[in-house]
Amino acid sequence: RGLVSPQGASDEAVVEPSLRPAKLADYVGQPQVQEQMEVFIPAARARGEALDHVLIFGPPGLGKTTLSHIVANELGVNLRQTSGPVLERPGDLAALLTNLEPRDVLFIDEIHRLSPVVEEVLYPAMEDRQIDIMIGEGPAARSIKLDLVPFTLVGATTRAGLLTSPLRDRFGIVQRLEFYDVEHLVLIVERTARILGMVMEAGGALEVARRSRGTPRIANRLLRRVRDYAEVKGDGRVTHEVAKKALDLLDVDSNGFDTMDRKLLLAMIEKFDGGPVGVDSLAAAISEERGTIEDVIEPFLIQQGFVMRTPRGRMATRHTYLHFGLEPAAEAVQ
Ligand code: ADP
Repeated sequence: RGLVSPQGASDEAVVEPSLRPAKLADYVGQPQVQEQMEVFIPAARARGEALDHVLIFGPPGLGKTTLSHIVANELGVNLRQTSGPVLERPGDLAALLTNLEPRDVLFIDEIHRLSPVVEEVLYPAMEDRQIDIMIGEGPAARSIKLDLVPFTLVGATTRAGLLTSPLRDRFGIVQRLEFYDVEHLVLIVERTARILGMVMEAGGALEVARRSRGTPRIANRLLRRVRDYAEVKGDGRVTHEVAKKALDLLDVDSNGFDTMDRKLLLAMIEKFDGGPVGVDSLAAAISEERGTIEDVIEPFLIQQGFVMRTPRGRMATRHTYLHFGLEPAAEAVQ
């Protein structure tokens, strides 16, 4: 999805560690998460216990990984990081679990993509701090139980509905991340600009924030490109005008929609008469994977009121038509 994709990109790896807030106090834009974790973390720390297992869900780029780092940091413990697809065999997970130090945080990204056999290792590990390990093969094989140290599993997923219920039920803390409002994105953009040593005017920060799809990762990525533009086409200062021109050049429109967003919205209008249309038909029409539409593209469009999810399928709304300067279909909702 190129430039404005909320998924990780190589340039992030270089600069990112310093951009990630390390303290809960700096984790702006998710007030409910912040408020709750400001109680749960100190409580666990004061008792000298591991924090309860935490499930974080929300679209890509909203700060799931960041929050897991903050949890470990605030608990003063190590963070071990892995992801669902990487853990191929039960032994992979067992090795990680048996190497944890007391109260460590194990972060499993894309936890919905764990294979069922690996997931089964997690159940007793989370609940009873035990794992069963098979020793030997064939008739001589036997299983032994191993005790684990107290630890916190932090699992991240794009949608809570993707998890099996036995897994979901074993998390004591569930945090749902929301799209960020512009006000908080401005703070994030200003902070990143400061870290990158940019000269940023208020109007410039506001324009980047407005067009970031409610997503900090996109805000930071757009900001880097705006910086490039400001340095090459101007004197490096990011004014409102510079930000606007740079973002226009990047094909990010006034609502922060990128090429894929517009492709999806236009397909709904032009090919399906505003819907209702099933997500599979939409996926075929824009040559995109169903999962990408569901996890990456449509959540923001739904939140912004440009796509409606109905039992009969997705529908365009009045906003959708107006966004493209079109006359709303008679039956278009709201
Ligand atoms: P996810 O794991 O949900 O895909 P990340 O945690 O990797 O998202 O966040 C993407 C980037 O956005 C981070 O590297 C960080 O710089 C920035 N970010 C995320 N959440 C916040 C926040 N609350 N405040 C400031 N920056 C944030």
